[in-house]
Amino acid sequence: MEQEVNAVTQAQTTLGSGTILDGTETARAIREELKGEIEGFLSRGLRHPGLAVILIGTNPASQVYVKNKVLACKKTGIESHLHQLDENIETNQVLKLIEELNQKDDIDGILVQLPLPATLSTDTILEAVRPDKDVDGLHTQNVGRLLSGKKGLRPCTPRGIMELLARYEIPLEGKAAVVIGRSNLVGKPISIMLLEKHATVKICHSRTKDLDRQARDADILVVAAGRKEIVKGSWIKPGAVVIDVGIHKEESDDGKGRLCGDVLFSEAREVASYITPVPGGVGPMTVAMLLSNTVESYKSRLPQFF
Ligand code: NAD
Repeated sequence: MEQEVNAVTQAQTTLGSGTILDGTETARAIREELKGEIEGFLSRGLRHPGLAVILIGTNPASQVYVKNKVLACKKTGIESHLHQLDENIETNQVLKLIEELNQKDDIDGILVQLPLPATLSTDTILEAVRPDKDVDGLHTQNVGRLLSGKKGLRPCTPRGIMELLARYEIPLEGKAAVVIGRSNLVGKPISIMLLEKHATVKICHSRTKDLDRQARDADILVVAAGRKEIVKGSWIKPGAVVIDVGIHKEESDDGKGRLCGDVLFSEAREVASYITPVPGGVGPMTVAMLLSNTVESYKSRLPQFF
């Protein structure tokens, strides 16, 4: 992917002083590339890549995310298989389904949409997914591979951030990166990936002192705190690159609701050199990386053809 870094440079848009890192356009370009690749598989008589999506319960945000993922699969040529399960299902029943999917030859990726209902054991369920079908990169085997710099499936959101930075040719080597948030899903893996690209990484969290001062040290600031607009313009070093992972819904005058992030965008864009918007930044890249991971998994599972 990284060799295609120029794909979106024409799509750069400037607002305020910071250039928008356009996740929607970059994700569209990635989908087109994957679609072309899949058409190539089909022309060789191979099957479509297959992704199983397990959605448990009725969490409205999860339903929207799953709908977007299924739609993105369709646009790209990946066959998605949606398994919608009742929120009262037991862990053992979910494990049984995962075991069936683990065995199926036409399923290359298994995605368990998080968060799971509190009655289920998230750890046990994520560990049951075969590591080579773990397109969310959350199995401990894949986490270990990431930590030790080995090839493996990597979590979609941090991978999407790295892809966006690469395609905009943003240098990381020797830069001071500050990550706010230390979750297994975003904060920890993005810290490792930035380190792998030779950034000097500081990880901040809910118990970090003087967060604003810490943030101001950053050439690259990644914010994944899940706190609405916590990062103000005054927290940002002039010329820094700002990646906003947060997603929050708030009321709007037209009653439709508005999405915003962990960064106060209107202030931050005046100070940053590059910034991701919410929506249209990290979110679409996360979905694009799910598709990319599914295709990676497909290819690694059919080694005789690749
Ligand atoms: P999480 O709740 O698991 O982790 C949040 C982290 O932020 C924790 O490590 C915590 O220590 C830290 N934190 C919380 N409050 C803080 C504070 N006041 N100061 C400093 N650190 C603080 O969340 P997550 O799963 O990492 O997600 C973070 C945000 O990103 C959420 O808004 C989530 O909805 C969003 N998200 C977006 C995408 C996407 O595709 N765009 C993907 C995953 C998560």
